[in-house]
Amino acid sequence: MTTPRPDPTPPDWTAIRADFPLLQREVHGKPLVYLDSANTGQKPAAVIDAVDDFFRRHNANVSRAVHALGTEATEAYEGARAKLAGFLKVHRDELVLCSGTTFALNLVAYSWALPRLGPGDVVLLTRMEHHANIVPWQLVAERTGATIRVAELLPDGSLDLDALYAAMTGEVKLLGLAHVSNVLGTVNPVREICREARRRGIVTVVDGSQAVPHRAVDVPALGCDFYALTGHKMCGPTGTGALWARRELLAQMPPFLGGGEMIKEVRFEGSVFNDPPHHFEAGTPNIAGHVGLGVATDYLSAIGMDAIEAREAELLAHATEALTAIDGLRILGTAPEKAAVISFLLDGAHAHDLATLLDLEGVAVRSGQHCAHPLLQFYGVPATCRASFAFYNTHDEIERFAEAIRKVRRLLA
Ligand code: PLP
Repeated sequence: MTTPRPDPTPPDWTAIRADFPLLQREVHGKPLVYLDSANTGQKPAAVIDAVDDFFRRHNANVSRAVHALGTEATEAYEGARAKLAGFLKVHRDELVLCSGTTFALNLVAYSWALPRLGPGDVVLLTRMEHHANIVPWQLVAERTGATIRVAELLPDGSLDLDALYAAMTGEVKLLGLAHVSNVLGTVNPVREICREARRRGIVTVVDGSQAVPHRAVDVPALGCDFYALTGHKMCGPTGTGALWARRELLAQMPPFLGGGEMIKEVRFEGSVFNDPPHHFEAGTPNIAGHVGLGVATDYLSAIGMDAIEAREAELLAHATEALTAIDGLRILGTAPEKAAVISFLLDGAHAHDLATLLDLEGVAVRSGQHCAHPLLQFYGVPATCRASFAFYNTHDEIERFAEAIRKVRRLLA
Protein backbone atom coordinates (compact mmCIF):
# COMPACT_ATOMS: atom_id res chain seq x y z
CA MET A 1 0.00 0.00 0.00
CA THR A 2 1.49 3.35 -0.91
CA THR A 3 1.11 6.75 0.69
CA PRO A 4 0.93 9.43 -2.00
CA ARG A 5 3.50 12.13 -1.42
CA PRO A 6 2.10 15.62 -1.69
CA ASP A 7 5.17 16.72 -3.63
CA PRO A 8 6.46 14.48 -6.45
CA THR A 9 10.02 15.92 -6.45
CA PRO A 10 12.57 13.69 -4.69
CA PRO A 11 13.12 14.64 -1.05
CA ASP A 12 16.16 16.77 -0.27
CA TRP A 13 17.82 14.39 2.19
CA THR A 14 20.47 16.93 3.19
CA ALA A 15 17.82 19.46 4.18
CA ILE A 16 15.84 16.72 5.96
CA ARG A 17 18.88 15.70 7.98
CA ALA A 18 19.33 19.32 9.04
CA ASP A 19 15.89 19.12 10.69
CA PHE A 20 17.43 16.91 13.41
CA PRO A 21 19.38 19.12 15.84
CA LEU A 22 21.03 16.23 17.69
CA LEU A 23 22.62 14.89 14.52
CA GLN A 24 24.76 18.02 14.33
CA ARG A 25 26.65 17.20 17.53
CA GLU A 26 29.98 15.54 18.12
CA VAL A 27 30.91 12.71 20.49
CA HIS A 28 34.49 12.13 21.65
CA GLY A 29 35.50 15.01 19.38
CA LYS A 30 34.17 13.29 16.26
CA PRO A 31 31.01 14.02 14.28
CA LEU A 32 28.27 11.72 15.52
CA VAL A 33 27.25 8.82 13.28
CA TYR A 34 23.98 7.68 14.85
CA LEU A 35 23.22 4.09 13.84
CA ASP A 36 20.88 3.12 16.68
CA SER A 37 17.49 4.15 15.34
CA ALA A 38 15.98 0.70 15.97
CA ASN A 39 16.61 1.43 19.64
CA THR A 40 15.17 4.92 19.53
CA GLY A 41 14.85 7.40 16.70
CA GLN A 42 16.07 10.98 16.68
CA LYS A 43 13.56 13.83 16.73
CA PRO A 44 13.10 16.59 14.17
CA ALA A 45 12.84 20.19 15.39
CA ALA A 46 9.13 20.23 14.47
CA VAL A 47 8.43 17.54 17.11
CA ILE A 48 10.66 19.15 19.73
CA ASP A 49 8.97 22.51 19.09
CA ALA A 50 5.48 21.00 19.32
CA VAL A 51 6.21 19.54 22.76
CA ASP A 52 7.81 22.81 23.87
CA ASP A 53 4.87 24.84 22.56
CA PHE A 54 2.38 22.60 24.34
CA PHE A 55 4.05 23.18 27.70
CA ARG A 56 4.64 26.89 27.07
CA ARG A 57 1.18 27.75 25.77
CA HIS A 58 -1.46 25.04 26.17
CA ASN A 59 -0.58 22.87 29.17
CA ALA A 60 -3.66 21.57 31.00
CA ASN A 61 -5.17 18.18 31.71
CA VAL A 62 -7.42 16.52 29.12
CA SER A 63 -11.14 15.70 29.27
CA ARG A 64 -11.61 17.35 32.66
CA ALA A 65 -11.43 21.13 32.75
CA VAL A 66 -13.92 23.30 30.88
CA HIS A 67 -11.58 26.30 30.85
CA ALA A 68 -9.89 27.39 27.63
CA LEU A 69 -6.60 25.64 28.28
CA GLY A 70 -8.41 22.41 29.14
CA THR A 71 -10.26 22.57 25.83
CA GLU A 72 -7.07 23.34 23.92
CA ALA A 73 -5.21 20.44 25.55
CA THR A 74 -8.07 18.01 24.87
CA GLU A 75 -8.32 19.14 21.26
CA ALA A 76 -4.57 18.80 20.80
CA TYR A 77 -4.54 15.30 22.34
CA GLU A 78 -7.55 14.06 20.38
CA GLY A 79 -6.15 15.76 17.28
CA ALA A 80 -3.00 13.66 17.73
CA ARG A 81 -5.13 10.50 17.95
CA ALA A 82 -6.82 11.49 14.69
CA LYS A 83 -3.46 12.15 12.98
CA LEU A 84 -2.04 8.80 14.07
CA ALA A 85 -5.25 7.06 12.97
CA GLY A 86 -4.96 8.69 9.55
CA PHE A 87 -1.32 7.64 9.32
CA LEU A 88 -2.28 3.99 9.97
CA LYS A 89 -5.52 4.19 7.91
CA VAL A 90 -7.65 3.17 10.88
CA HIS A 91 -10.57 4.77 12.70
CA ARG A 92 -9.63 6.94 15.66
CA ASP A 93 -12.06 5.09 17.94
CA GLU A 94 -10.06 1.90 17.41
CA LEU A 95 -6.83 3.43 18.61
CA VAL A 96 -5.84 3.23 22.28
CA LEU A 97 -3.10 5.74 23.04
CA CYS A 98 -0.56 4.40 25.52
CA SER A 99 3.10 4.51 26.49
CA GLY A 100 4.32 2.27 23.67
CA THR A 101 4.44 -1.26 22.38
CA THR A 102 5.19 -2.85 25.74
CA PHE A 103 2.04 -1.38 27.24
CA ALA A 104 0.00 -2.19 24.13
CA LEU A 105 0.98 -5.87 24.13
CA ASN A 106 0.40 -6.21 27.87
CA LEU A 107 -3.03 -4.69 27.36
CA VAL A 108 -3.91 -7.45 24.87
CA ALA A 109 -2.41 -10.08 27.16
CA TYR A 110 -4.31 -9.02 30.27
CA SER A 111 -7.55 -7.78 28.80
CA TRP A 112 -8.09 -10.10 25.83
CA ALA A 113 -6.07 -13.24 26.58
CA LEU A 114 -6.23 -13.65 30.37
CA PRO A 115 -10.03 -14.09 30.53
CA ARG A 116 -10.10 -16.33 27.45
CA LEU A 117 -7.17 -18.75 27.66
CA GLY A 118 -7.17 -21.96 29.66
CA PRO A 119 -5.34 -25.27 30.01
CA GLY A 120 -4.71 -26.87 26.63
CA ASP A 121 -4.72 -23.55 24.76
CA VAL A 122 -1.59 -22.48 22.91
CA VAL A 123 -0.05 -19.08 22.22
CA LEU A 124 2.08 -19.29 19.10
CA LEU A 125 5.07 -16.93 18.91
CA THR A 126 7.91 -16.62 16.44
CA ARG A 127 11.55 -17.10 17.41
CA MET A 128 12.31 -13.49 16.41
CA GLU A 129 9.99 -11.74 18.89
CA HIS A 130 11.17 -8.93 21.14
CA HIS A 131 10.78 -9.72 24.85
CA ALA A 132 7.77 -7.38 24.86
CA ASN A 133 5.99 -9.95 22.70
CA ILE A 134 7.15 -12.95 24.74
CA VAL A 135 7.10 -12.18 28.45
CA PRO A 136 3.46 -10.93 28.70
CA TRP A 137 2.35 -14.23 27.11
CA GLN A 138 4.46 -16.22 29.56
CA LEU A 139 2.84 -14.36 32.46
CA VAL A 140 -0.62 -15.06 31.06
CA ALA A 141 0.26 -18.69 30.29
CA GLU A 142 1.37 -19.19 33.89
CA ARG A 143 -1.93 -17.91 35.18
CA THR A 144 -4.19 -19.74 32.73
CA GLY A 145 -2.43 -23.06 32.12
CA ALA A 146 -1.96 -22.24 28.45
CA THR A 147 1.37 -23.06 26.79
CA ILE A 148 3.71 -21.23 24.43
CA ARG A 149 4.70 -22.74 21.09
CA VAL A 150 7.56 -21.35 19.00
CA ALA A 151 7.60 -20.96 15.23
CA GLU A 152 11.21 -21.39 14.09
CA LEU A 153 13.35 -19.57 11.56
CA LEU A 154 15.35 -20.51 8.50
CA PRO A 155 19.10 -19.87 8.79
CA ASP A 156 18.82 -16.57 6.86
CA GLY A 157 16.47 -15.23 9.53
CA SER A 158 13.23 -15.62 7.56
CA LEU A 159 10.30 -17.31 9.20
CA ASP A 160 9.90 -20.94 8.20
CA LEU A 161 6.39 -20.45 6.85
CA ASP A 162 5.68 -24.15 6.29
CA ALA A 163 6.57 -24.82 9.92
CA LEU A 164 4.53 -21.82 11.05
CA TYR A 165 1.41 -22.98 9.23
CA ALA A 166 1.92 -26.54 10.46
CA ALA A 167 2.11 -25.14 14.01
CA MET A 168 -1.28 -23.42 13.61
CA THR A 169 -3.23 -26.35 15.05
CA GLY A 170 -6.66 -26.29 16.68
CA GLU A 171 -5.29 -25.51 20.15
CA VAL A 172 -3.68 -22.25 19.01
CA LYS A 173 -5.80 -19.31 20.14
CA LEU A 174 -3.39 -16.48 19.46
CA LEU A 175 -0.39 -15.73 17.26
CA GLY A 176 2.14 -13.04 18.26
CA LEU A 177 4.23 -11.86 15.36
CA ALA A 178 6.73 -9.08 14.67
CA HIS A 179 6.05 -7.14 11.48
CA VAL A 180 9.79 -6.42 11.24
CA SER A 181 12.52 -8.01 13.41
CA ASN A 182 14.46 -5.51 15.53
CA VAL A 183 17.58 -7.70 15.38
CA LEU A 184 17.63 -9.13 11.86
CA GLY A 185 15.54 -6.62 9.96
CA THR A 186 13.47 -9.47 8.51
CA VAL A 187 10.17 -8.18 7.13
CA ASN A 188 7.52 -10.83 7.70
CA PRO A 189 4.72 -11.45 5.19
CA VAL A 190 2.19 -10.34 7.75
CA ARG A 191 -0.75 -10.15 5.39
CA GLU A 192 -0.38 -13.72 4.20
CA ILE A 193 0.28 -15.01 7.74
CA CYS A 194 -2.76 -13.22 9.17
CA ARG A 195 -4.93 -14.63 6.37
CA GLU A 196 -3.80 -18.16 7.24
CA ALA A 197 -4.35 -17.53 10.95
CA ARG A 198 -7.80 -16.10 10.36
CA ARG A 199 -8.81 -19.16 8.28
CA ARG A 200 -7.99 -21.22 11.36
CA GLY A 201 -9.76 -18.92 13.83
CA ILE A 202 -6.51 -17.71 15.43
CA VAL A 203 -6.36 -14.14 16.73
CA THR A 204 -3.30 -12.22 15.51
CA VAL A 205 -1.26 -9.68 17.48
CA VAL A 206 1.30 -7.86 15.35
CA ASP A 207 4.20 -5.94 16.86
CA GLY A 208 4.65 -3.05 14.46
CA SER A 209 7.40 -1.22 16.39
CA GLN A 210 10.02 -1.59 13.69
CA ALA A 211 7.68 -1.34 10.69
CA VAL A 212 5.68 1.84 11.18
CA PRO A 213 8.74 4.15 11.25
CA HIS A 214 10.11 2.76 8.00
CA ARG A 215 7.32 1.92 5.54
CA ALA A 216 3.70 2.78 4.80
CA VAL A 217 1.53 0.56 6.98
CA ASP A 218 -2.13 0.19 6.10
CA VAL A 219 -3.20 -1.65 9.24
CA PRO A 220 -6.67 -2.85 8.13
CA ALA A 221 -5.17 -4.21 4.89
CA LEU A 222 -2.88 -6.48 6.93
CA GLY A 223 -5.92 -8.36 8.24
CA CYS A 224 -4.61 -8.64 11.80
CA ASP A 225 -6.70 -8.32 14.97
CA PHE A 226 -4.29 -6.22 17.06
CA TYR A 227 -1.42 -3.97 15.97
CA ALA A 228 0.99 -2.40 18.49
CA LEU A 229 3.37 0.47 17.87
CA THR A 230 5.67 2.81 19.69
CA GLY A 231 6.13 6.53 19.08
CA HIS A 232 9.77 6.97 20.01
CA LYS A 233 11.07 4.97 17.06
CA MET A 234 9.05 7.05 14.57
CA CYS A 235 10.41 10.52 15.36
CA GLY A 236 8.00 10.93 18.30
CA PRO A 237 8.69 11.37 22.01
CA THR A 238 9.36 8.47 24.38
CA GLY A 239 6.40 7.20 26.38
CA THR A 240 4.01 7.40 23.43
CA GLY A 241 2.41 4.78 21.23
CA ALA A 242 -0.79 2.97 20.50
CA LEU A 243 -2.68 -0.25 20.25
CA TRP A 244 -5.03 -0.67 17.32
CA ALA A 245 -7.67 -3.34 17.75
CA ARG A 246 -10.64 -4.47 15.73
CA ARG A 247 -13.62 -2.55 17.02
CA GLU A 248 -15.61 -5.65 17.99
CA LEU A 249 -12.65 -7.00 20.00
CA LEU A 250 -12.11 -3.70 21.80
CA ALA A 251 -15.77 -3.62 22.75
CA GLN A 252 -15.54 -7.11 24.29
CA MET A 253 -12.43 -6.38 26.34
CA PRO A 254 -12.71 -5.40 30.01
CA PRO A 255 -10.63 -2.47 31.30
CA PHE A 256 -7.01 -3.25 32.10
CA LEU A 257 -6.32 -0.39 34.52
CA GLY A 258 -8.92 1.48 36.54
CA GLY A 259 -8.95 5.16 37.47
CA GLY A 260 -9.95 8.57 36.24
CA GLU A 261 -10.68 9.27 32.55
CA MET A 262 -11.76 5.67 31.85
CA ILE A 263 -15.18 5.92 33.54
CA LYS A 264 -18.54 7.59 32.91
CA GLU A 265 -19.83 7.21 36.45
CA VAL A 266 -18.43 5.84 39.69
CA ARG A 267 -20.49 4.68 42.69
CA PHE A 268 -19.23 2.53 45.50
CA GLU A 269 -21.65 -0.14 44.25
CA GLY A 270 -19.92 -0.19 40.87
CA SER A 271 -18.72 1.97 37.97
CA VAL A 272 -19.88 2.59 34.43
CA PHE A 273 -16.92 2.58 32.06
CA ASN A 274 -16.21 5.00 29.27
CA ASP A 275 -16.57 3.90 25.64
CA PRO A 276 -13.64 2.31 23.80
CA PRO A 277 -10.88 3.33 23.34
CA HIS A 278 -11.10 5.65 26.38
CA HIS A 279 -11.89 2.88 28.86
CA PHE A 280 -8.28 1.74 28.35
CA GLU A 281 -6.79 5.15 29.07
CA ALA A 282 -6.96 5.43 32.84
CA GLY A 283 -5.23 8.40 34.47
CA THR A 284 -3.54 11.42 33.01
CA PRO A 285 -1.91 10.44 29.72
CA ASN A 286 1.32 11.67 28.15
CA ILE A 287 -0.47 14.61 26.55
CA ALA A 288 2.49 16.63 25.29
CA GLY A 289 4.21 13.46 24.09
CA HIS A 290 1.25 12.43 21.98
CA VAL A 291 0.91 15.94 20.60
CA GLY A 292 4.55 15.50 19.51
CA LEU A 293 3.73 12.10 18.04
CA GLY A 294 0.92 13.64 15.99
CA VAL A 295 3.41 16.15 14.58
CA ALA A 296 5.84 13.28 13.90
CA THR A 297 3.22 11.61 11.69
CA ASP A 298 2.78 14.89 9.80
CA TYR A 299 6.54 15.12 9.40
CA LEU A 300 6.90 11.56 8.08
CA SER A 301 3.90 11.94 5.77
CA ALA A 302 5.33 15.15 4.29
CA ILE A 303 8.49 13.26 3.32
CA GLY A 304 6.43 10.24 2.20
CA MET A 305 6.72 6.75 3.63
CA ASP A 306 7.49 5.25 0.22
CA ALA A 307 10.37 7.70 -0.21
CA ILE A 308 11.61 6.79 3.28
CA GLU A 309 11.44 3.07 2.52
CA ALA A 310 13.34 3.55 -0.75
CA ARG A 311 15.99 5.75 0.91
CA GLU A 312 16.57 3.23 3.69
CA ALA A 313 16.77 0.36 1.17
CA GLU A 314 19.58 2.27 -0.58
CA LEU A 315 21.39 2.82 2.73
CA LEU A 316 20.98 -0.86 3.63
CA ALA A 317 22.39 -2.00 0.29
CA HIS A 318 25.38 0.32 0.68
CA ALA A 319 26.07 -0.71 4.28
CA THR A 320 25.68 -4.42 3.50
CA GLU A 321 28.19 -4.13 0.67
CA ALA A 322 30.64 -2.12 2.79
CA LEU A 323 30.46 -4.53 5.74
CA THR A 324 30.58 -7.68 3.63
CA ALA A 325 33.92 -6.49 2.25
CA ILE A 326 35.48 -6.49 5.75
CA ASP A 327 37.44 -9.67 6.53
CA GLY A 328 36.20 -11.52 9.59
CA LEU A 329 32.85 -9.71 9.71
CA ARG A 330 29.71 -11.83 9.70
CA ILE A 331 26.17 -10.51 9.22
CA LEU A 332 23.29 -12.31 10.96
CA GLY A 333 20.03 -12.04 9.08
CA THR A 334 20.06 -12.01 5.31
CA ALA A 335 16.38 -12.53 4.52
CA PRO A 336 15.37 -11.34 1.04
CA GLU A 337 12.81 -8.95 2.57
CA LYS A 338 14.84 -6.90 4.98
CA ALA A 339 14.61 -3.50 6.65
CA ALA A 340 17.68 -1.33 7.33
CA VAL A 341 19.02 -3.21 10.35
CA ILE A 342 22.33 -5.09 10.34
CA SER A 343 23.38 -7.36 13.19
CA PHE A 344 27.01 -8.34 12.92
CA LEU A 345 29.97 -10.00 14.61
CA LEU A 346 33.66 -9.36 14.11
CA ASP A 347 36.15 -12.17 14.62
CA GLY A 348 38.23 -11.64 17.74
CA ALA A 349 36.09 -8.83 19.19
CA HIS A 350 33.34 -9.10 21.78
CA ALA A 351 30.28 -7.15 20.66
CA HIS A 352 30.45 -4.78 23.66
CA ASP A 353 34.16 -4.08 23.09
CA LEU A 354 33.52 -3.44 19.42
CA ALA A 355 30.62 -1.06 20.19
CA THR A 356 32.78 0.77 22.76
CA LEU A 357 35.63 1.21 20.29
CA LEU A 358 33.22 2.35 17.57
CA ASP A 359 31.78 4.88 20.01
CA LEU A 360 35.25 6.38 20.40
CA GLU A 361 35.14 6.95 16.63
CA GLY A 362 31.80 8.75 17.01
CA VAL A 363 29.76 5.77 15.76
CA ALA A 364 26.77 4.80 17.92
CA VAL A 365 25.68 1.17 17.47
CA ARG A 366 23.94 -1.06 19.96
CA SER A 367 25.55 -4.21 21.33
CA GLY A 368 24.06 -7.03 23.35
CA GLN A 369 21.00 -9.22 22.99
CA HIS A 370 18.60 -6.52 21.78
CA CYS A 371 15.77 -7.73 24.05
CA ALA A 372 15.61 -10.91 21.98
CA HIS A 373 17.41 -13.65 23.95
CA PRO A 374 15.64 -16.57 22.20
CA LEU A 375 16.73 -15.24 18.81
CA LEU A 376 20.37 -15.05 19.83
CA GLN A 377 20.09 -18.54 21.32
CA PHE A 378 18.98 -19.71 17.84
CA TYR A 379 22.22 -18.35 16.36
CA GLY A 380 24.26 -19.64 19.30
CA VAL A 381 25.92 -16.29 20.01
CA PRO A 382 25.97 -14.36 23.31
CA ALA A 383 25.66 -10.91 21.74
CA THR A 384 25.86 -8.99 18.46
CA CYS A 385 26.51 -5.44 17.39
CA ARG A 386 23.59 -3.89 15.59
CA ALA A 387 23.66 -0.94 13.23
CA SER A 388 20.20 0.39 12.44
CA PHE A 389 19.58 3.10 9.90
CA ALA A 390 16.97 5.76 9.29
CA PHE A 391 16.28 8.09 6.38
CA TYR A 392 18.37 10.82 8.08
CA ASN A 393 21.56 8.77 7.79
CA THR A 394 23.91 9.41 4.89
CA HIS A 395 26.11 7.42 2.54
CA ASP A 396 29.09 9.29 3.93
CA GLU A 397 28.22 8.03 7.44
CA ILE A 398 28.21 4.47 6.13
CA GLU A 399 31.73 4.95 4.76
CA ARG A 400 32.84 6.34 8.14
CA PHE A 401 31.19 3.43 9.92
CA ALA A 402 32.99 0.87 7.74
CA GLU A 403 36.28 2.73 8.17
CA ALA A 404 35.79 2.74 11.97
CA ILE A 405 35.31 -1.06 11.94
CA ARG A 406 38.45 -1.48 9.82
CA LYS A 407 40.34 0.67 12.33
CA VAL A 408 39.13 -1.49 15.24
CA ARG A 409 40.17 -4.58 13.30
CA ARG A 410 43.68 -3.19 12.82
CA LEU A 411 43.85 -2.30 16.53
CA LEU A 412 42.87 -5.82 17.54
CA ALA A 413 45.16 -7.59 15.04
N1 PLP B 1 9.00 -4.63 19.98
C1 PLP B 1 10.06 -4.38 19.20
C2 PLP B 1 10.22 -5.15 17.92
C3 PLP B 1 10.97 -3.39 19.56
O1 PLP B 1 12.03 -3.15 18.78
C4 PLP B 1 10.77 -2.68 20.77
C5 PLP B 1 11.75 -1.67 21.22
O2 PLP B 1 12.95 -1.87 21.17
C6 PLP B 1 9.65 -2.97 21.55
C7 PLP B 1 8.78 -3.96 21.12
C8 PLP B 1 9.36 -2.26 22.84
O3 PLP B 1 8.92 -0.98 22.56
P1 PLP B 1 8.71 0.06 23.77
O4 PLP B 1 9.96 0.04 24.58
O5 PLP B 1 8.53 1.36 23.12
O6 PLP B 1 7.54 -0.39 24.51
